[in-house]
This record gives sequence, C-alpha cells and structure tokens, in this order.
Amino acid sequence: MDYKEHIAIVENWPKEGIQFKDITPLMDNGKAFKSAVDDIVDYAQDKEIELVVGPEARGFIVGCPVSYALEIGFAPVRKEGKLPRETIKVDYGLEYGNDVLAIHKDAIKPGQRVLIIDDLLATGGTIEATIELVEQLGGVVAGCAFLIELTYLDGRKKLDGYDVCTLMQY
Ligand code: IMP
Repeated sequence: MDYKEHIAIVENWPKEGIQFKDITPLMDNGKAFKSAVDDIVDYAQDKEIELVVGPEARGFIVGCPVSYALEIGFAPVRKEGKLPRETIKVDYGLEYGNDVLAIHKDAIKPGQRVLIIDDLLATGGTIEATIELVEQLGGVVAGCAFLIELTYLDGRKKLDGYDVCTLMQY
C-alpha cells in the first residue's frame, strides 16, 4: 500500500523551517491504518517480542494496536512528571528542542525482548533515549519500528547495530 498518500505535509510547523509529517489522515483511514499496523506486526513476528514500548504520544497510537495484535503488553515512555510511580529518566535532544523521558522502574523485566515503536524517526534523539531507558532496565531491544523515517536527518546513525523497520522514507 502507498502510505504516503495518507500523510499530510505541513510546512513551517511547529516552527519555521520544519516540514511536519502529519499522520492523522493515515489514522483516519481505517484500511490504511490497519495495513500499517499489520506491516509492523509482520516485522515483529519472528523476533520473539515480549513487550512493546512506545514514547508519547504518537508512539502510543502506533504501539498499542501492535501490542494488542501480538497479545503482549505495552509500556509507555512519557515526558518527566507524567508517570505516577517510581521512574528512571533520561535527557534527550529533539529535532526541535530538549526534554526528559521517563519509564516506570518495573515496566521491563531483565532479559525481556522489547519492540520499540514510534510514529517517526527524525534525528533519532527520542529513540536513542527510549533505547537507553529500556536497556537501563535490562531489556533487550529486539527491534525498532516506525511509520516514517526522515532519511535527511540521519537518525539511523544512532541505531547502528539495532534492527530497524520503517514503512515510509522521506
Ligand atoms: P527525533 O527524536 O528527532 O527522532 O524526533 C522524533 C520524535 O519527534 C517522534 O516522537 C515524533 O513523534 C516527533 N516528530 C518529529 N518530527 C515529526 C514530524 O514531522 N511528524 C510527526 N512527528 C514528528
């Protein structure tokens, strides 16, 4: 399926010079959204994944249906201060800014095989921070899946040695 026809490109948002890829038209199309989720489920199939981890907020949108289909759990990675129980944290840089990401300390069991899912790979800062959280808790990153990869931002460089799947490239 040509998923790109369901991505809206928004110039200069959220700030000047950024060309934002908006996935909401894809989410709005039941067949396209299901097909994209199914493609990630297929990618995960032979990896013995035990848990899906996704950063807020669009990592939840893509990650949760994948965890549902695989009949495994989903653990949220959130901005600092959003998770109610004890967390570990990591600082990270974004395509446009800086932030702190956190995960519940008991979200991952040591040795557990994790699939990290987000909507989009840009500079790789978010995924790098998410990998760090998973590995600090003893999880094994068995794969990373994204709907979109912005190849011109070279985020893959930060994912050297990891198994990566992206459904669309710009
Ligand atoms: P990175 O950390 O630079 O790789 O940026 C990826 C994160 O920023 C992801 O969590 C995305 O949701 C978000 N992001 C960055 N650029 C875009 C975009 O063009 N569309 C949608 N999300 C984006």
